[in-house]
Amino acid sequence: MPSLRCLSCKTNYPTHEKLYTCPACDGLLDVTYPIDEMSGERLMSLWDWRRASPRTIDQSGVWRFRELLPEATEDEIVTLTEGNTQLWEAPRSAKFAGVDRLVLKHLGMNPTGSFKDLGMTTGITQARRLGAQMVACASTGNTSASMAAYAARAGMKSYVFIPSGQIALGKLSQALDYGAVVLQIEGDFDDAMRLVREVASETPIYLLNSINPFRLEGQKTIAFELLQQRGWQIPDRIVVPGGNLGNSSAIAKGFRELLERGVIARMPKLTIIQAEGSNPLYRMWSEKSEVLAPLSPAWTLATAIKIGSPVSWPKAIRGLHCSNGTVESVNEQEIADAKAIIGSDGIGCEPASAVTVAGIRKLVAAGEIDPGEDIVAILTGHVLKDPDYTVNYHRGTLTYAPPGGERISIHSNYANAFIQVPSEKQALLSALQL
Ligand SMILES: *Cc1c(COP(=O)(O)O)cnc(C)c1O
Ligand SMILES: [Zn+2]
Repeated sequence: MPSLRCLSCKTNYPTHEKLYTCPACDGLLDVTYPIDEMSGERLMSLWDWRRASPRTIDQSGVWRFRELLPEATEDEIVTLTEGNTQLWEAPRSAKFAGVDRLVLKHLGMNPTGSFKDLGMTTGITQARRLGAQMVACASTGNTSASMAAYAARAGMKSYVFIPSGQIALGKLSQALDYGAVVLQIEGDFDDAMRLVREVASETPIYLLNSINPFRLEGQKTIAFELLQQRGWQIPDRIVVPGGNLGNSSAIAKGFRELLERGVIARMPKLTIIQAEGSNPLYRMWSEKSEVLAPLSPAWTLATAIKIGSPVSWPKAIRGLHCSNGTVESVNEQEIADAKAIIGSDGIGCEPASAVTVAGIRKLVAAGEIDPGEDIVAILTGHVLKDPDYTVNYHRGTLTYAPPGGERISIHSNYANAFIQVPSEKQALLSALQL
């Protein structure tokens, strides 16, 4: 049976206890599974067979892999048949980044438009197993959209704590539509996070931030599904945006579990990319420090990764070490240009996702990535989550102000501005530039 194990003191706890961190030392918890006799070969053929099965739990790109997920009966599982997101060739992004070939896995194609759905199906299912009727999270947007949707499916009440004025409108509208109680906190994400943890510890509300180990279990299936789509061929490198560091930790855990069970023979290099104004992991990594120093205030226009005190950093560091990975940091201009290039591939993504292509480009230029590597970059959110950003970039009106600094204009190097034309055919024809 799976159990919860503390990352620091290694104490084990049963999964039916409502725990977020270790009661003994406050360390992060991992869901761990016994390594049973089922071989890697057997797992692969079972999982491949399920892709063609019409059962809902087999069609879910998370629950298809249930041999390596927390226990739940079919009745308990709350799913929107998440996952099954595409792998797309991105030739223009590859050329921009300086690599021969680049494949993007677009997790923005999930039911609520971000990878958070993968963790929310396991998180809300665990909430149901524990008998919770109320759930809550602090969010920069996508977590709240996803939690609100899955809570609605499960008939639970949901509470969302968002930092005021710092959330993309597309995401806020989703939380409202799915019926969450939305509380705007006069503070930043890290304040909202601290408050929701305090509230959850004093009430029957079940906390669904990524400190919750059950969310990471769903997100680790990104590694499984990615390999399954590639016929179980391992890429050399996997590139992921880093905010709270739950997703990068989860993906590394997924690959490690497959390695331990003989499904794969080596780990792809985990490569985490952060935004310059919210890059505490990058600083820690390049300074070779033992602990992460929170960054306050954190800033970036990529609000999904605007986080100065990422909770999952010890797990991310573990993933970097066991995969021979690395961390890079990119600035606002680099993010904005990379996003436009991804758009020019006919794909599109929200700003936080674009750090991947920007980061690959930087690592190639630095000689750290070989242009011939087999690379998969993870796009985390849908292009329609933050249309303001995209329109401002193409119009040449995208600006940002670092704390205490002057307002800076982003250069719209790949702008595709709209053209004003009089309502007259001749003017229109000349504007078409045929
Ligand atoms: C949540 C989120 C991230 C950051 O993921 P972490 O697990 O917090 O590192 C990146 N991009 C998007 C679109 C997100 O919603
Ligand atoms: Zn402990």
